[in-house]
Parts: sequence; structure tokens; C-alpha cells
Amino acid sequence: MISKSSQLFNEAQKYIPGGVNSPVRAFKAVGGNPIFMEKAKGAYMYDVDGKKYIDLINSWGPMLLGHAFKPVEKRVQEVLTNSFSFGTPTSLEVEMAKIITELVPSVEKVRMVNSGTEATMSAIRLARGYTGRDKFIKFEGCYHGHGDSFLIAAGSGAITMGQPDSPGVTKGTAKDTLLAPFNNLEAVRTLVAANKNEIAAIILEPVVGNMGCVLPAEGFLEGLRKICDEEKIVLIFDEVMTGFRLALGGAQERYGVTPDMTTLGKIIGAGMPVGAYGGKQEIMDYVSPIGPVYQAGTLSGNPMAMAAGLTMLQHLKDTPAVYEQLEETSNLIVSGIQKDLNEMGLPYTMNHVGSMYSLFFTSEKVIDFDTAKTTNTELFGKYFRAMLDKGIYLSPSQYETVFISTALSTADINTILKASRKSLEEISK
Ligand code: PMP
Repeated sequence: MISKSSQLFNEAQKYIPGGVNSPVRAFKAVGGNPIFMEKAKGAYMYDVDGKKYIDLINSWGPMLLGHAFKPVEKRVQEVLTNSFSFGTPTSLEVEMAKIITELVPSVEKVRMVNSGTEATMSAIRLARGYTGRDKFIKFEGCYHGHGDSFLIAAGSGAITMGQPDSPGVTKGTAKDTLLAPFNNLEAVRTLVAANKNEIAAIILEPVVGNMGCVLPAEGFLEGLRKICDEEKIVLIFDEVMTGFRLALGGAQERYGVTPDMTTLGKIIGAGMPVGAYGGKQEIMDYVSPIGPVYQAGTLSGNPMAMAAGLTMLQHLKDTPAVYEQLEETSNLIVSGIQKDLNEMGLPYTMNHVGSMYSLFFTSEKVIDFDTAKTTNTELFGKYFRAMLDKGIYLSPSQYETVFISTALSTADINTILKASRKSLEEISK
């Protein structure tokens, strides 16, 4: 009998392009049909056919404390009764801005938007307006949302959909986006020298999640900081994935390098549609209405999104044990999988930091986009499907990362490890 998920997918394809509202969800990179979810609680998601999964994506990051975290749920219910949106300032926005500026080292002022895409688009516009320069440097394989100027050698779904340069992005736009390989300071220096006084910003995921998990090499972030200081370039960390995850103050706190601007996303809404960009006051004061750079949003600072995010950030601030637990759980999962891979003699590379990891099916060290592409994506697809079959929900692409939550119990960790061992045995036959 055809599953409810498959029925829904068939129907969805009649009305929604590809049946999904965001490409990676279509499972194109791993094969098979997407699973339609119905509800989720703590570490588990339940699909429309009633099957239970241990969730290792957590809505692509924001469910750091697991699904339907009670205090968040409660607070949203409270504010819900006061109307969903005012289009006026509210006290929740002030609270939100205060906690972000308190916790994220680079942020002195912050502006709320509605998605990570909006955050990065606005940040680049502001960096351009502030410096009076047009060009910026991005790194191959980094994904910064679907703004035109970022869809050049972008990671995430843009890799797996085979459209690193999307039609619809004009040559005029593309020419101002300069590309460098991640972890390659020499390439950045060369670009900067060849475009003297023309580069407004360098933007990067300080730990990449969107070509799979790729860590910054020793000295890379510091090297970028130095170049930006010398050349008066705005350094932007896109912490949509890493913010409040790799540490309370994000990757910038974990690695001790402070950018000029930071972009944040989904996690500051605890799963509600939110984004934000912030940074040095001098730069942020270039934004309208006090500065000349225009940026706006009818639903920006939406009260429900603010209430959800604020409750979560307050919990993170008050509960340092969250981060210890995330490290511990992740270490157990990663080291368990590595032990199995070593015993089986399968070629692999495991990239791991904090509660993010990617298992690449390649023996090459994965340090940038080119080395990430040496992975065996077909084998990853098989591993993904074998895990899904056993009720473990991984990111449906090799070029994404796993996001661990605090909701995983010891029993869940053992279930994950057992399923992984069995899946690896199946796929290596
Ligand atoms: N930046 C990064 C680093 C991301 O990972 C993403 C999305 N995963 C975005 C920006 C875009 O965010 P959104 O999907 O909310 O537009």
C-alpha cells in the first residue's frame, strides 16, 4: 500500500514546484521520496504514517533543546493572545536586541529580519553602503541564503541541485562576488591585492555547515581578521548555523575572533521564521532610519518569533550545562561511529566541532569545497536511506551537517550508534 507520505508528495508535486518549499527537502541528493512530518517532541519526529524518528537535523539547527521545548511553547501561547503582529515596536524586540548584544561579542546593535537570507543580503548591502565599495569575497561552498549575489559557487541545496550558478542571477551581479577557496588565506590576499580599495566585505561561515561540516584551519579566521583590519574591509561571520550553537556567543566566541558584523538566523527564533544582522555600532548606524542604507520589513520583530527566540536564548544564557551536554552527546556519537568505521576499514573523514558533524565517504582530508567534492555521494545516499529505514533522520544531503540537540538520551545515543553500525555494514556489502 502506498504510504501517506508518498500520497502527499504526489499531490504536492501538482501544486508546489518539486513538491517542496525548499529544495533539499525533496531528497534529490539521497534518492527516495521525502517524508512528510506531522509532529515532533523532544528528540523525536513522527511522520504522517505514524513512524517515529530520532531527529539529527533539528529543523536545520534551531531545535538545540529538542522540539516543542516547554517554556518556549508556553511563552508563545501567552503572547499569541495579544495579536500576532502589530507593525509597531514592541518591548519583546528590545529584550531580544539586548540579549543578542550581550551575548554575541561582535554585536553592539542589531536589526531583526525574517530569515537568514534577508540577514545576509542586508549585511552585504550595509557593508557596501558603509565602505562605498561594491565587491565582496565569499568562499566556495559556503551558503549564505538565496540572495542573488550569494548564488555563486554556493553550498547546501545549490550544490546538490547542480546549480551553483542559478539562472536568473545576472552577470552584472555575479561580477561583484569574488571567490576564494575556504581555508586559503593566500587566495584571499591575491584577490585583495588585485582589487585594492574595491572590496567592501569578506563573508564566511566561520565553521561551514553547507558543504558538509568544514572547520577553519588554525590561523584562518585570525588571518582574515588581519587582512580586513589592514584593508578596511568589513569582516562578516554568517553564524546562521553556528550562532548560539557552537558556544553561547557562537563560533566567534569559540574561536576567539571577533568580526565586524554577524548574521544570525533560525536559532534566534527557536524555529520561528527569524533572522538578524548586527555588528559595530558605527556600521549599524548606517541603516535607515538614522543612516542612508535602506532595509525594512513589515513582519520583522514579529512578537511570536521574538517570544519564542527570547525564551530560548534566556534559557541558554541561564543554563551553561546545555553546552557541556551538547559536547558530551556529540563526542559519544561521533567517536562511536568512528570506532565502527575504523573496525570495518571503510575510508572516511569525520569533521566535527561541538554539536555539528559530517561524515564524508572519502579518505581525503576535507578542508574546502574541492576536497568536500571527493566524497562518495552515492554511498552517502545509501547510508542516509539505511539510517532513515531504522528511524534515524539525518540531513538528506552529504553537503549538510548533523545538528545534535540536548533532547537525546543515553538510550537514543545507543540506538543511533546501533543503527549506524548496521547501516555501515549494509552499505559496505
Ligand atoms: N546562511 C547560512 C550559513 C545558512 O546555513 C542558511 C540556511 N541554512 C542561510 C544563511 C539562509 O537562511 P534561510 O534559509 O533562513 O534564508
